[in-house]
Amino acid sequence: MTPEEINQLVAEKIMGWTPKPCDLEETQQEWTVYDDGYCWCPRCKVREHISTFEHGIIPPPRYSTDMNAAWLVLQHIDEEWDELIPPFAYNLGVTFATSDGFDTFTLSFGQLVRLTPEKICKAVLKTIGAI
Ligand SMILES: [Zn+2]
Repeated sequence: MTPEEINQLVAEKIMGWTPKPCDLEETQQEWTVYDDGYCWCPRCKVREHISTFEHGIIPPPRYSTDMNAAWLVLQHIDEEWDELIPPFAYNLGVTFATSDGFDTFTLSFGQLVRLTPEKICKAVLKTIGAI
């Protein structure tokens, strides 16, 4: 899976994200116009010549590569997911399965520092059966 595919799945299946057309004009951001006539929009990431430029769909946050964005996923899970937290923690590799279910949360410092946005996203998607 590409990072973009992971971002899209996490956004839609976990974070309740829906595609939204670019609304650059309503923000304080500005697009970039290059000397060759091409423009780049920081909201929808479209890069096209100014003569044919059309804004696109704003892409989802970069959950799989940006720890700040991945942390929003963890907070969402903490707030919304009660019963799925144990299997999620198991898929993340920070707890153990026992015959009674899952053991208590056992994240060590060594595990903590090895968490990456990609690992968090894949564990979430595995927990809901999306991958
Ligand atoms: Zn745009």
